[in-house]
Amino acid sequence: MLRAIVCAFSVFATFCLATGASAEDRAPAAPVLVVHGGAGAMAPGRYTAAEELAYRDALTAALNAGGAILEDGGSALDAVETAIRLLEDSPLFNAGRGAVLTREGDAELDASIMDGANANAGAVAGVTSVKNPITLARRVMENSEHVMFARDGAEKFAKAQRLEREKASYFKTDARKRDYEAARKKEKDVEKQGAHGSPPEKFGTVGAVALDADGNLAAGTSTGGMLMKRFGRVGDSPVVGAGTFADNRSCAVSSTGHGEFFIRLTVARDICAQMEYGGRTLKEAARDVIHNRLEGLGGSGGIIAVDPSGETALTFNTAGMFRGVKRAGAAPEVAIYGERLVD
Ligand code: ASP
Repeated sequence: MLRAIVCAFSVFATFCLATGASAEDRAPAAPVLVVHGGAGAMAPGRYTAAEELAYRDALTAALNAGGAILEDGGSALDAVETAIRLLEDSPLFNAGRGAVLTREGDAELDASIMDGANANAGAVAGVTSVKNPITLARRVMENSEHVMFARDGAEKFAKAQRLEREKASYFKTDARKRDYEAARKKEKDVEKQGAHGSPPEKFGTVGAVALDADGNLAAGTSTGGMLMKRFGRVGDSPVVGAGTFADNRSCAVSSTGHGEFFIRLTVARDICAQMEYGGRTLKEAARDVIHNRLEGLGGSGGIIAVDPSGETALTFNTAGMFRGVKRAGAAPEVAIYGERLVD
């Protein structure tokens, strides 16, 4: 009983999880939604005040749309999909419209989604015409017997599912075309001088994780990948366990950063596994994976995560990460640099 009372206060929620309070003992945690719009070199001064405001507004709109679903008793999956769709539709982020371009100058999109209640997952890689890849990933999860479809197969499935499609020009914004031209020029300069260039640091990607009123967790991630990626390159975002993972017993995670490192470290799953098998709190596990393991290999990026008690982690080793949190009944909070909402 005492535990039940103590557990009703979220500050002790981690204690309740760690000490194994039964489901009946535990007061249901208030729903929460966390979103990210990519981690990278977004140090203060990089954006004009107007640009910064546009990013903050887009993150807030995603939090409000997904948060409203949770406040109405809707599912974590619906909240995650809704928030990500809005971020995909925004030209500001590297996902859907506004995706970075491949070496050939195309937009190739990856996405995945996972339901923490039953370990169901869906993913798509290398799609070029689907307006909202996160919705296609959800259809793969719910309307097929498979987990991942790639390229032409994913396009065929999207067509069969009658999902909204767009021409290539929809995805390629002027800003991304300029980034692409600048990256090509840099590459040519480097070739001329016979030197090796460092890969362009252009992390974007969008993601969301949520806890709903029924105690279910969900996670989703959507991206254009990395600028100048080579033929058929697939990053971590559609890889379950690397870019996305959700399990009601531990946590839900969405990653952003240099995907090759996230795949090799199975970043999203490792955070949840450290909680499940190692008894770590969410924040401890997230810090270990990002600041020790990822950084130890020379990788950079970040994650957002939530656990069944409503505890969140927003952890990155880059200068900034577009991010935000919305707890039921509270106003959304957003941040870009290291000023707050950092674990
Ligand atoms: N993780 C993504 C990828 O490697 C990129 C990013 O998060 O910006 O494809």
